[in-house]
Amino acid sequence: MRTLAFTVLIVTFLTGCQESPTGRNRLALVPDAVLADMGQDSFEKMKQQNPVIKRPDVNRLVQCITEALVSAAQAEYPEAPMPQSWEVAVFDNSTPNAFALPGGKIGVHSGLLQLAENQSQMATVIGHEIAHVLADHGNERLTQQLGLQAGMLLVGLFTESEIAEDQIQQALGIGAQLGITLPFSRAHEEEADLMGLDIMARAGFEPEQSVRLWQNMAKASGAQPLEFLSTHPNHDTRIASLKSQVAAARSVFETVPPASCQI
Ligand SMILES: [Zn+2]
Repeated sequence: MRTLAFTVLIVTFLTGCQESPTGRNRLALVPDAVLADMGQDSFEKMKQQNPVIKRPDVNRLVQCITEALVSAAQAEYPEAPMPQSWEVAVFDNSTPNAFALPGGKIGVHSGLLQLAENQSQMATVIGHEIAHVLADHGNERLTQQLGLQAGMLLVGLFTESEIAEDQIQQALGIGAQLGITLPFSRAHEEEADLMGLDIMARAGFEPEQSVRLWQNMAKASGAQPLEFLSTHPNHDTRIASLKSQVAAARSVFETVPPASCQI
């Protein structure tokens, strides 16, 4: 039994050492199914504890944008672990924010719908969040947080109850209270931005709108930084980096039919 456990550990370790979708070396040891369960549990709790908007027109819009992005993401990153299904909910919260959890659960705040001027700006944020999931950033973070314990937990002792809820929430990039987005590392943010840009262009959303969206976010943050901005990279850096990639995204955008999920 011990040998089997050891073999499982080694195999998990070897398969856990892999490259991210953009070729970054990283360690992601938590089994995807376990992480997906954690994401689903957190999402259910969030829906129970926070007001959810049930307007059909609003839900149709975010659903349309999410579906277009998900199928483009599949085409753009065929190797990435794709959740079996995706679910999107709109939370009644004025912070312009969105999040996506392992297991394909996406939350959009009503404040984002107010800030975004068009479907492509909405797609910028949702695409960025989908990219965090496809790049398995939550897995990397949880692996780091658990450190050496992860090895022990993986050889048969791994149950969700053994990991503190705040560790799970931190790894998933959400706070106990809705509206708090916990910081991902700069490497994760840049990766999600660039993957998100590829995904939105492939889905037929105008890549230039990503720059506009972040400019709007910067303006809206005013004196008091929004949670989303405060935990994300400096917006000037982010805007400059997106600008440098927009031309390449535009050439992809021009080869696909434009998306039509109007705001
Ligand atoms: Zn992010």
